[in-house]
Amino acid sequence: MKFILEFPLLIEAQCDHCQVCIHLCPAECLESGENYPVLARPLDCIQCGACAFGCPTGAIFLDEIT
Ligand code: SF4
Ligand code: SF4
Repeated sequence: MKFILEFPLLIEAQCDHCQVCIHLCPAECLESGENYPVLARPLDCIQCGACAFGCPTGAIFLDEIT
């Protein structure tokens, strides 16, 4: 059996720092960094994809970590 973990990654050039992803995260694991959101508590991320789904610029997405 193979478990697939996906965590949010950020394309900084596409992020306008609107903070929508931070507000949408049900696990409250994203925080506002100096210029971009940061995954402050990665162990709390439930890989739900809400941050990526709600991002208006497509700057944040979930990528696979095996
Ligand atoms: S995938 Fe879900 S839990 Fe993880 S950072 Fe995005 S919104 Fe939060
Ligand atoms: S929702 Fe998208 S554009 Fe807005 S802060 Fe998050 S990653 Fe950046």
